[in-house]
Formats: sequence, structure tokens, C-alpha cells
Amino acid sequence: MQAVVMAGGKGTRLSRIAENIPKPMMPVNGKPLLECQVENLKENGITEIIMVVGYQKDVIKGYFQDGKRLNVSISYFEEAVPLGTAGALRHLADRLEEDFILVFGDLFFSVDFKRFLDFHKEKGAEITLFAHPNSHPYDSDLIEINSNGCVIGWNSKNGKREKNYRNLVNAGLYILSKKSLNRLEGLQTADMEKDFVQPAIGGGQVFAYQSPEYVKDIGTPERLQSVREDLVNNLPQKRNLREKQKAIFLDRDGTINRYIGFLRKPEEFELEENAAEAVKRINGSGYLAVVITNQPVIARGEVTEEELEDIHKKMETLLGKEGGYVDGIYFCPHHPDKGFEGEVEELKIPCRCRKPGTGLIERAAEDFHISLEDSWIIGDTGTDIQAGLNAGLHTALVMTGEEDKFSKYAACPEVTAADLLEAVEMILRREGEA
Ligand SMILES: [Zn+2]
Repeated sequence: MQAVVMAGGKGTRLSRIAENIPKPMMPVNGKPLLECQVENLKENGITEIIMVVGYQKDVIKGYFQDGKRLNVSISYFEEAVPLGTAGALRHLADRLEEDFILVFGDLFFSVDFKRFLDFHKEKGAEITLFAHPNSHPYDSDLIEINSNGCVIGWNSKNGKREKNYRNLVNAGLYILSKKSLNRLEGLQTADMEKDFVQPAIGGGQVFAYQSPEYVKDIGTPERLQSVREDLVNNLPQKRNLREKQKAIFLDRDGTINRYIGFLRKPEEFELEENAAEAVKRINGSGYLAVVITNQPVIARGEVTEEELEDIHKKMETLLGKEGGYVDGIYFCPHHPDKGFEGEVEELKIPCRCRKPGTGLIERAAEDFHISLEDSWIIGDTGTDIQAGLNAGLHTALVMTGEEDKFSKYAACPEVTAADLLEAVEMILRREGEA
């Protein structure tokens, strides 16, 4: 497989700490960023690389040459004048295979590209972007997707936000089909997002691959510093989905948000005190934060899946305001007892996903390559604890939420905490992650 690396960037905002070093050549981990990219690509078996160069191209070409030293094959496209972030692609069409990877030269990443490519192929996409939540969604462009992962909207950070949005941000890594390059025809210069991706939305050909893997840009001295710190802790490698992951599974109602019985509207959703801080602590640890929640209100016909999505957008917005995010949300829409007015009959079934069943946990474990025995569940009821035990997780009970915690199950949690923040702190301390 081939990769195109956009390495023509100047790095204006980094010039105060390193004048005259082109951004892709900025040292991280004792070598140029671009070399780290080449290494991650090579680990994925991607050894044919085209570098698009412009600013200080001789420095880059001189360093990498034909790539032999790194056991890859590198060729170049030289921009005589800057063509924008996507303009060069139009000139590369005859050098490219059917599907190829596009990488921006200011990113540090460690990604399992096979999973990414499988998603692209399964969806039959022309453009697949790598999307993830971040700690500052309020000043990021946010992507809107449907339940199939198809991108249906793009919310600019510069516009006024009047609704709640999913915390889903374009990371700057793409898989493109060669066919998609037709969209650039006639454009001398082109901006990747504005001229290429955004106009293609609506045609059903743009998809977002969601992954908790490590992809961060080094565009400012602060961000460069944060990448260097993460590297000391080996975080990028740990988050690569080829490696087994650890997760903290979180119940929703009564654990993250205030328990009010059946919750039917976004307006009724309020975070528990310190819940955002708790989630933020998980984000800064080696654990993924994955929500698993029983939502029988769907089977009862009281909330549609679309309305549930709106409630989750509110959750992500409130968490995001305080710098926290969840890596995944899984819900069970079923309920076993039939015979009520207004119910959705096909969802009134016994299922494996309703907690204490383990279906949701297992689905997340497959999506994120999670080792269950190294993971935890935190919830406010015996049902959550029993689900955790059934799935082989460590268990923690919080005293927020439902009063009657053990009505049906006598399951005993390993950890009992006043609230989510205390539970997370106890877990991280116990696991040496604090
Ligand atoms: Zn279910």
C-alpha cells in the first residue's frame, strides 16, 4: 500500500523555538517527526511513500533520499509554488494505486492502518477520515455522522453553535480512493477540508473512522511539548489498536449524570458533580473511557434512537466543556417484558446486551481490542456490578444514583466510592496509573 505525506509545511508557529527547521523535520523522540511517521507506516507494511515537499525541500530530500536506509521506497513531488494542503494530489494521480493513505506532515501518530483500511473498504468509501474526540471540542471543527459512520455535516469552530454536537474531530489522516481525486479537477490550489472534503459531504461517499489511537499535531510549541511528554510515557504505542487496550467502562444514569429515573430529553440530562473531572482523569491515564448503558426507554417507545443520540450529544458537549471525552458509547435498546402501550414490539426481546448481559462490553472489546481482565466497570447498581463480574472485569460501585443498589443481585464490588471521581482515583491509584 502507498502513502502520500504532505511535508511542505513551513511551521510558522514553531519558528520561535526552532528557526529554519521545516515543521516535518522537528525532532521528537530523538529523530525528525517525518521519520517517526515513516516508521509507523513501515510497521503497517506500508513501504511505498510519496513525499510532497516545498519549503526547504532539500533538507527533507537530503535526509531521506530514496528511503533505502529506512527500508522503504521514497519518491518526491516538488511544489514549485505552494498548492495548498491538497493541490498536489491532482498531479499524483498516475503514480497512485486504487486506495492510498494521506498523512499530514505535522502529525505524530501510532495507528493500526489495517483496521482503518478495513473500515474504508467495508463502507465502499471514496474519502475516509480518521476521527477522534479531543479535549477542546468547543474550539475545534466538529464532524457530524449518521449511525453508519457516513459524514453528513461539518460544524465550523468559527460559527455560532446553537445545538449540542458529538465530540468528533478530523485528525488529519485519510484513506482516499484514486477516484476521489476527480474532485480536484480544474483547481490550481486546493485546501484539503474546504475544497475537497466538505464539498463531497452529502454524496454519501465520505466516512469517518472513529478510533482512540494516538494522533496529535505538533503545530505549536505547547503541542510539541505535550507530544514529547506523551512519548516519555509511551502513550502513542500503548494506544495503538494492535496492542491490547485497557478500559474503564462507565454506566451512564446515576454514574455520569444525575439519576432521575427514565431520562427522555436532553434538557433532563445533568452531569453528576465532578463527573467531567473524573472522565478527564481517565483520558489522561492508560485507560479508555467507554459508556455502556441500558436504555429500555427505546423499547418502551418513549425515546427514539435519534433522541437518544441528542441526549448523548448533550453528554459529550457538557463533558467537552470541561476537557473530558468518552472513547465510545454503547447502548442496549431492548427490554424483555412485552405488552405495554406504545412499545416497539421488535425491541421487546430478551437479549445479550442488556446489563447484566455482557453483549455491549464484548462489542466494545472487539472494536477497541480491549483486554477485559485488565479493565474495570463503574456503576451505581448491582446490575452494573453483575455485568462486570459476568464479563470478567474489575468492579467499582458508586453511591450516587439509584438508592436501591442491590435489589436483584448480591454481587459484591471490589471498590466502593462516594462518586465517580473518587472511584476513578481509587482505581488509578491501585493500578499505579495516578
Ligand atoms: Zn439489548
